Amino acid sequence: MSDWAPDIARLQALNNDEWLRVESTFCGRLLAYAARRVPDAQAREDIVQETFLGALRGIDNFDAVYSFEQYLFGICRNRTIDFLRRRRVVGQGQEADSRDAPLAVDQLLFEGTTPSGIVQTADAADRGRELLVGVLRQWVQETWQQGEFVRLQVIEALFSGGWRNRDTWQRFGLRDETAVAGVKFRALKRLRHLAEASDASGEILAALAAVSEEEKSHFDFDVAVTWRLGRVSCPARYWLTRHLAGDLKGAPEEFVKFHLEEMKCPWCAANLDDLERAEEDSLTPFLESLRQSTVQYLRSRSISGEGS
Ligand SMILES: [Zn+2]
Repeated sequence: MSDWAPDIARLQALNNDEWLRVESTFCGRLLAYAARRVPDAQAREDIVQETFLGALRGIDNFDAVYSFEQYLFGICRNRTIDFLRRRRVVGQGQEADSRDAPLAVDQLLFEGTTPSGIVQTADAADRGRELLVGVLRQWVQETWQQGEFVRLQVIEALFSGGWRNRDTWQRFGLRDETAVAGVKFRALKRLRHLAEASDASGEILAALAAVSEEEKSHFDFDVAVTWRLGRVSCPARYWLTRHLAGDLKGAPEEFVKFHLEEMKCPWCAANLDDLERAEEDSLTPFLESLRQSTVQYLRSRSISGEGS
């Protein structure tokens, strides 16, 4: 399956066909995302159903700095956190729940920032984060195009993984710690250059400065969180398909494995689980029930006009 992306204008116009294609395209990977966190199959389906309804309700405020898949994963993540929190409250005093649930919630919170996540875009911190996502992504893309996959992994390990120079040079077989510092220095220089074009308020430069001084960011967003939440270095689904089929070789394959196994990217793991799922798996009944709730929602919107 290719990386199909929906036409946002058609989604905003509440076009039936476009929404149903969204469901059939993204249902599997959202279920796979939830499956790594929520053991109960029925609860997972509820989460995914709420995710699509949330996507419908919020589509007018869709922010083009994110991909549509990121938008969906962001909502799915929030619904999952809501579910785990509810279960934690309900499950207090019960052995199994109070043992499992808090861990899962904390882990999820670490994956992103606040539960509001990427769906809200209004305030200044979000604007800053969006700009930073854009700059980091630009850097990743040009580094990928140059075939500099070791550089890409080193920077992801440092910026997103929080690795220290000492561990990083050994992992990538570099000469010594100084070589890592050099890679980082040049990357930051390039990032500052890219940022200058778009960063009127200087926020990105401040966040980058915090990275170069290895201090904890005092800002509402920092580079590590932004890297993960913005899926700055996530390979397109196409690369995951090739990785799975075993026909991705050399440096790109090294990168994909590193991203999945060492950076433990939750979004790419969900995509991979979805790709691994047998083609004929029984998503059909669930898709049918999704279709019904979506069509019902679209119908109610078209009757009530703009009111909601
Ligand atoms: Zn990823």
